[in-house]
Parts: sequence; C-alpha cells; structure tokens
Amino acid sequence: MSINNHSISPSKVVRGENAWIKSIDLVTQLCKRPLLIGRSSSTKDIRTSFKKDLLLKGIQSFSFELEHDCCELDIKNACLISKNNNCDGIIAAGGGKVLDAGKLIADLLGINCITIPLSASTCAGWTALSNIYTPDGKFIKDVTLKNCPNLLIFDHTIVRAAPPRTLASGMADAVAKWYESSLTSSTSQDGFVQQAVQMARVLRDQLFLNGHKAFLNPLSNSWETVAEGCALTAGIIGGLGGARCRTAAAHPIHNGLTQLAYTNKPLHGELVGFGLLIQLHLEEKNSNSQLPKQAKSQLIDFFSQLNLPISLESICLKSTTSDELQKACKFACSDNSDIHQLPFLINEKELYDAIQNFQSLSTSYKIIFK
Ligand SMILES: [Zn+2]
Repeated sequence: MSINNHSISPSKVVRGENAWIKSIDLVTQLCKRPLLIGRSSSTKDIRTSFKKDLLLKGIQSFSFELEHDCCELDIKNACLISKNNNCDGIIAAGGGKVLDAGKLIADLLGINCITIPLSASTCAGWTALSNIYTPDGKFIKDVTLKNCPNLLIFDHTIVRAAPPRTLASGMADAVAKWYESSLTSSTSQDGFVQQAVQMARVLRDQLFLNGHKAFLNPLSNSWETVAEGCALTAGIIGGLGGARCRTAAAHPIHNGLTQLAYTNKPLHGELVGFGLLIQLHLEEKNSNSQLPKQAKSQLIDFFSQLNLPISLESICLKSTTSDELQKACKFACSDNSDIHQLPFLINEKELYDAIQNFQSLSTSYKIIFK
C-alpha cells in the first residue's frame, strides 16, 4: 500500500449544550491573543459575547469580519491584521465559508485554529480543506490544509437557534456524500475508503429517518442526530476517506452553478442538493439500472419536505438563459473537475441537456410534491 498522509480529525471535539463556555479553558490554552473571524451581521452578537467571555478569562481577542465569501482578498487582509496584532490563534465562528477562511488563515500563518460552527449547514468545521471563491462568490478551487483544526466546538445551544434552512442545507450536503462516494470509490481496495463510504450510507439512512422531524423541531432527539451528522459525521467521512473518497457530479455542478448570478443567494448545500438530483438524472440516462431513478424520486420527496430547491427557479437564478447555464456546465466539466470521476464519459453539452431535461420534468415533480 502506498503512503497516505491525510489529517483525519480535529485534535479535540467538544459537543453538547453550552459547549463554548464549557471549553473556554481549552481555548485559552491554545491561544492568548486570538483573532476572532466571522461574517454575518445576524451572528455578530454571538461573537461579541465570545469576546466578553474571553476577556473575563484575561484574554484579549481581536476581530475580523469577512467582507465576502472565503476569498483571497479577505484572507490577505485577515493575515495582515493577525500579524500586526501578534495573534497566536484563529477562532472562526460562523457558517462554512467563515470556517474555511479561518482554517486557511491559521494554516498560512502556522498558528492554532479553533472552529465554532454557528449552524449545521456544512462539515467545514471538521475538515482539513478550504474552498476558495472570488469576492462575488464564484468557486475557484479547494485547498488541502496541513491539519484539521486543533479544537472544534459544536455548541448545541447556539446551533439550535440557527435558521432551519441551514440545517436543511446541511442535510443535502451530507446525503450527497453517499451518492457521490459510492459512485467514485466503491471499487477502492483501501479499507479506510470502504469504511468511509459505508459510514456515508449509514448517515444517509439516519437523515432519511430523522431529517424531517429535526427540521420541524430543534428540541427533538432527532435534531441532535441530524445536526451532528451534518456538521461532524460528514467531516469524519471526508477525513477518513481523504482525497480518494472523491466527489462525483453533485459538487462539480455546485461549483459550476456558483459562477452564475442569483436573486437570492443559495446556500452551499442547496446547490449541492440540486446538483445531486442532476447527477442521478445523468446516472439514470447512462445505465440500465432502475436504482438512480428510484433514488432521485426518493430525494425529491425528501428535499421537498425540507423546503430544499428541486428546480432551476427555486435555486433563484437571476437568468436561466441557455448562455448562462452553458457557462455553469462548462465550468463543471473543466479538465480537472471531479465530474470526470463518473463511471461514464460526460461533456458540457450532455450536462446542459440533462439539466434542461430534468427541468422540464421538474414541473411535474412540483405538482406531486408541493
Ligand atoms: Zn459540500
């Protein structure tokens, strides 16, 4: 077996009610002058309370609010502020893009990293990977980091208060792990990859069983299973499987769709979920198996229960003209895209046709699953 070098998990994970305040001593052991990174104005109060709690422990923290998505400009500015203030650690508190930015800044500066997801919308708090976007949110590339965070704090009290839309988006991102990894990695001889793929299947089943209940009631036991599944277990799968447990079409289609303009910006998992429906549609066209068709209809039902987009209109594209869509398909099918891990050949024209064809069918889906 060849040598594999990948960071599997954060050094420490603290999860549960009031996890932040219970782990504050661990935070102060990791850094004495942290830079606290965030973005959304809706979560600013949470970061302000973190600063106060740190101050009570004698720790002065510095702040940096991202102006855009996780982009080079913001990363550069944050690195500068960190250096100018002699910061010795990064605390990233926010959604996936804030967590990605925090991890990358800590990696570049060689300082400790603490991630605090404020929703369960992605597994970015866990992984040694950051997605880089342009300032206006177009996906550029992902970067493999040297390590997973030193500490991940998953505070149920905080995450429970996040909008249900973020949990639904996390579920779409997490179920995609099974449909993507089982397609690209099921022939792998590596035990870790095989185990990661099986874990992705178990996670999917748990989300099918508990997802709707969790979406409706954040005080239910289902919520804990689902929120931790999306934000933590999905990260374990990525860490264990590593680069060899690759994405298939759902994420590359997401990457392509981020190149377009939106009236109401969709979340990462919302576009991944739509990309997953297109992936299954492509599989259906390229195989004799009935399974992709059944999986697609099961997912349309599941996504509809969670109010997740299942059509081009519902992802809120500013313009659905063929030129725009072709741009997304071209990006998704670029030479180094993971879409070429599919077990059949695909080009931008075939992807475009699949989206159009799926779109014409989605009118009937909406009638059935309204
Ligand atoms: Zn994702």
